[in-house]
Amino acid sequence: MQLARRRAIFRRLQAANPHPTTELLHSSPFELLVAVMLSAHTTDRSVNAATRELFAVANTPQAILALGVDGVRPYLKSVGLYNMKSKNLVALAQQILQLHKGKIPHDRAALEALPGVGRKTANIILNMVFGESTIAVDTHVFRVANRTGLAPGKTPREVEEALLVNTPAEYRKDAHHWLILHGRYVCTARKPDCPHCIIEDLCEYPHKTPPPKARRVDARRAALGSRRRAVPPARAR
Ligand code: SF4
Repeated sequence: MQLARRRAIFRRLQAANPHPTTELLHSSPFELLVAVMLSAHTTDRSVNAATRELFAVANTPQAILALGVDGVRPYLKSVGLYNMKSKNLVALAQQILQLHKGKIPHDRAALEALPGVGRKTANIILNMVFGESTIAVDTHVFRVANRTGLAPGKTPREVEEALLVNTPAEYRKDAHHWLILHGRYVCTARKPDCPHCIIEDLCEYPHKTPPPKARRVDARRAALGSRRRAVPPARAR
């Protein structure tokens, strides 16, 4: 995809949402780290439901460690894989206290060494807490980057690297939020809302959802076609 087209896509996404941010509730870097770590294979809504209660009683590494795994688990029941995430959360709090003096480390390797934290979570923390222009690739970003042609790739890492190269510098810091929100609410997995998509004319996806009128015409044509096919060959002649 040409640079002018890529730039136009981000210009429109920015115009529609000049200050994009995460939908995960948080009021400190530690809360953000916990929320992002919990959000793997889970919706933001169920993470928010869990952290709203959890953070009211424990929102620091010390408090999470004091709660322990058995104390944390009941709060995480609405979150997928909550048994494993409860253990990871307490181990993460312990590691932050022991190795990083209770602070979130500003270092990719140290972040990725925390229990339950992978590259995607590290990218979000580096971006949102430390202001780096990293681009985290989750399932929504992966889909939108591939469909639009912005950054095709077979793996999240390939897409991340392509996005870093293909995203104009002035849009790199917020690219993750724009693409994730576009994938979550417009370019959805099952049926992208192409007729209402603000980048429809710039997107290179070959299987766009047609507008409702065209869908009706297509349906009529399909019905006529099947009726014609249903006529026995002898009578058709
Ligand atoms: S036109 Fe359709 S496929 Fe392309 S980005 Fe928009 S919603 Fe997604």
